[in-house]
Amino acid sequence: MQIKNVAFIGTGIMGARIAGHLMDAGYDLTVYNRTREKAEALLAKGAHWAESPAAAAAHADVVFTMVGYPTDVEDVYLSTDGLIRAAKKGAWLIDLTTSSPQLARDIHDAAEVEDKHAFDCPVTGGEQGAIDGTLTLIIGAAEKDVEPVMPLLECFSSRRFFFDQPGGGQTAKLCNQVSLASCMVGYADALALAEQSGIDAEKVLEVMASGTGGSGASKTLAPKSLAGDYKPGFLAEHLRKDIALALQRSEDLDITLPGAETAFTLFDMLCQIGGSRMGTQALTLLYQEEGTCAAAGLDWSLLEQGDEDGEGCGCDHDHDHECGCGHDHDHGDHECCGGHGHHHEDGHECHCHDHEGRA
Ligand code: NAP
Repeated sequence: MQIKNVAFIGTGIMGARIAGHLMDAGYDLTVYNRTREKAEALLAKGAHWAESPAAAAAHADVVFTMVGYPTDVEDVYLSTDGLIRAAKKGAWLIDLTTSSPQLARDIHDAAEVEDKHAFDCPVTGGEQGAIDGTLTLIIGAAEKDVEPVMPLLECFSSRRFFFDQPGGGQTAKLCNQVSLASCMVGYADALALAEQSGIDAEKVLEVMASGTGGSGASKTLAPKSLAGDYKPGFLAEHLRKDIALALQRSEDLDITLPGAETAFTLFDMLCQIGGSRMGTQALTLLYQEEGTCAAAGLDWSLLEQGDEDGEGCGCDHDHDHECGCGHDHDHGDHECCGGHGHHHEDGHECHCHDHEGRA
């Protein structure tokens, strides 16, 4: 099969860069994004605009999707004018979004019935990996089954892992995300401890990098946190969505993920007080004084409003919101304060998320 026409749906932070690499490799690209402005750079480069996912897919041999949430994926694929129906027979439908494993399986099965090929292919490597075309792909299919589209995948990735079954890529990606989330909490704790102790936090990061306390997150994101650079490469609300998906999976498996629960509490808090569209590195703001948070655009009173409306899930604030995992369920019988409690046995007061001010 000669692949020439490619459609790309979702040209945000990651999608626009990935689509650019496909164009550079010579594929004829048609794009659709909810907000057209975010596709302008690709259009200026020669991509064609379509007015809907269905219109974008009409003549495409391969359709990539890189949208935000499982609900977006469901809409783009499974709605009455979605890709499952609208794409050509024999077309390849490749979802790069970090989404639900079950939804990936549903899409795979629905595509098969319609004589189309669909597989989940979430990515890791961040905005820089998308810019450089060096992403790692986490594929919910066997290598031999996706051979026809390998040249396209190679345009924007340097490593590819095959998890052999529909949804396998998404499950593996969620494993990566829970580890990332805990690494972020780890470095945020370390920086808070260093700063409150009056020692050089940058030097502490160097120590961590030279030993076993460092992580990819502390290497790439902690310097941004320290510099007060909260511009999004990876949106805080997207990491909250990923942790929520992992917690949903852990509930299905009847296991506990204490690190992920802690991280969910913190990222959910960040999102509630106005940090949804900040980069994940804004996590460290939760450890700062109220004035610093306000200067960065956060508003702790939003959390108090949430408390007033709250249903009471054990953490005194409102979890009755859309967490992005696409499931209607309760994420919290975890405790507030990241799971380590506001009341310590020795009687001292914990200030870990005390937004009245830090000790
Ligand atoms: P983003 O900048 O928000 O991009 C998502 C794009 O999809 C937005 O432009 C959005 O439109 C568009 N979109 C959403 N629903 C749509 C729909 N129904 N139809 C058409 N377009 C739709 O986010 P991102 O950072 O690129 O991330 C995308 C996905 O990749 C997320 O699932 C994220 O978790 C995952 N991811 C991100 C990174 C990272 O470092 N950024 C790394 C790995 C994985 P609007 O422009 O209207 O918002």
